[in-house]
This record gives sequence, structure tokens and C-alpha cells, in this order.
Amino acid sequence: MKGSIIDDQRTTAVQLSTEELQRYSRHLIMPEVTADGQRRLKAFDNVDLSNLQRQILHGTKDVGRGKLESAQDRLRDINPKIEIELHQCRFSSENASEIVFNYDVVVDGSDNFATRYLSNDVCVFEQKPNVYGSVFRFEGQTTVFAPHLGGPCYRCLFPEPPPPDSVPNCAQAGVLGVLPGIIGMLQAIETIKLIVGIGEPLIGRLLHFDALKVKFRELNLRRDAQCPVCGENPTIFAPIDYDQFCGARDEQAVPAISVHELKRKTDAREAFELIDVREPFEYEIARIDGAKLIPLGEIAERTDELQREQPIVVHCHSGKRSAQAVRLLQRRGFGNVYNLEGGIDAWSDQIDPTVPKY
Ligand SMILES: [Zn+2]
Repeated sequence: MKGSIIDDQRTTAVQLSTEELQRYSRHLIMPEVTADGQRRLKAFDNVDLSNLQRQILHGTKDVGRGKLESAQDRLRDINPKIEIELHQCRFSSENASEIVFNYDVVVDGSDNFATRYLSNDVCVFEQKPNVYGSVFRFEGQTTVFAPHLGGPCYRCLFPEPPPPDSVPNCAQAGVLGVLPGIIGMLQAIETIKLIVGIGEPLIGRLLHFDALKVKFRELNLRRDAQCPVCGENPTIFAPIDYDQFCGARDEQAVPAISVHELKRKTDAREAFELIDVREPFEYEIARIDGAKLIPLGEIAERTDELQREQPIVVHCHSGKRSAQAVRLLQRRGFGNVYNLEGGIDAWSDQIDPTVPKY
């Protein structure tokens, strides 16, 4: 099958048993899948599904058990024939390449930035598609990161992790219990499509789901030539542990104001300019009223659009990219420029909860 991530030579020796023909009959009757597609799914049997659809893999009787064993038992109950390999270890820069190397695709259902950046980078290095999914409160999103198939990677969108503890995880912010199932199912669909080689994968497209509005939105994502891991001049060549990464990123302090100070300035109708240095797709998701969008990569060429006689407040998602922009503007002779601490994230947390978080 053209477009499958599984080589033809790996499927020739794979046969479907009578029982499997019966079990998967609803797949076989679809011309897009057929027995060939099902053999590809079977050839792709070393799946680590422990993070996928986690909510429905564990039952009340499993409370207190290890998640890996519990998930394995549940999947074996559904299909005793599938081969499952458990990795009872923390996914780290030490073992990430070694683990990912053995598989055809990674389904990332992690809930923290350390794992997300690590799996992204390793998938870029090993040229494996990374089926990404994340959930937050009532919203979820999914896409397929695969620079080797023409799409962007996670760092094309978010070059650096946010500062530790600046972004709440599911345990802190909450998540609607059924939402991971929906996003997990979408990730499973994308994985099956990649293996069978059918349809249009979510490469270069991000699907955002808002459970409260029951709305799906699709955002186009582009590769960034400046991406530190898959760009033209990469600066990251090996897996990095998030903690180390953050320790090495101590940046010089730049003049800053809090979101409360920004609110006060806005309410007092003070004269100042608010610049948003995030990417257009982020601006589509959430924005602060009155902010002018100039992505970080364009700000050097667009300084003539800025008012030198007024204070300038720069914001991004969490405050890191905007700190870079402040330093850049200072070098260009802007003396009255401030970073918004915590970025739009802090704005939605502390000032305006109607501004969506992502
Ligand atoms: Zn990239």
C-alpha cells in the first residue's frame, strides 16, 4: 500500500488466521483497508499502548496496581494475540533513542513538557512519526509531527519548553474525564491511517476540539526553517532532559511588568503599545484585546511599525519568547520596553479566564 509507514517486505510473511479474519472482518470489507492493511497493522504489533486511552484501560479492581501491568491485562483481554512490550522505566535522555528506535510510530499521550519535548526530539532524530495529543480542562488537540514526511515538529511551534511550574498539568488544572478518550481515539485513527497508508494524515494540521462548544477547528501548521531540531541549521542534536535544559537556560533578566500591571494600564487608558510575538496559529487560539501580532521571527524586520515614543509591552505564551524580543528591541535602541511576566497564560489565569489556554 502506497503511503504506509510499514515497508512492504515486512508484511509479506504476515498471515491472518481464521480467527483474525473473523475478528477484523469489519476492517477487511472496507476497500481502503482490506487484508493488506490488516496485515500491516499486524506487522506493527510491538505497540506500547500504555499511555493511549489510559482512562478506559484501568478498572476499579486495578487500583493500586502498576499501570503498565493493568493496561497490558486489559489489552490482552481484548485481544490475547497482540504482542506488548512494557518499558518499566522513566522515559529519559538516557533511554529515549534506544526505545523509540525499535518502533514505527510513537503515540504521545504524555501530560508533561519533559516527555513531550523528549519524544518530539527523538522522533525527529529517528525519523518516526509522533502522533501528538494533549488535553486541558475541556479542550484537546491532536496532530502528527513528522518532519521526514514534510510536516513540522513540536519545536517548530514551540522552540523551547516553558519555565518549570509555569504551566499547570492535568492534575493541577483538571480535565474532563471523557476528553482523553476522544483525543486518544483520534490519535488511534491517525496511527492506523499511517500504518495502513490511507487517507490524509494530520501532518501539518492541528485538530483542536472544544468539548463545551462541541466544535472541531483545524489549524494549519508550518515547518520553521529556524527550528532548533528539524530546521536548516539545527542546534539540538541529542536528547535533552527537560530539567537540565531549563537549568542551562538561565536568561538575563529583562524589564518586566505583571499581568496585573498590564490590566491597570489598560483600565487607566495609559498610552502604550502591546505586542504579541507568538505565531499566527496561537493568536487564532487566544489573544489579549488590543495586542498587535508580530511573530518573534519577524520583529527584527518590523521595528519601524513600533512607536518609539510610547512604552512597549511584549507578550508571548509564557514569557520566554517575549524576553528574547525585549532584548532584541533593546539592542535596536528601544529604551522603554517591558516583558509581560507569564505571558498570555498568566493573563488567562489571573485576569481573564475567558481567554483560552493551550
Ligand atoms: Zn521542527
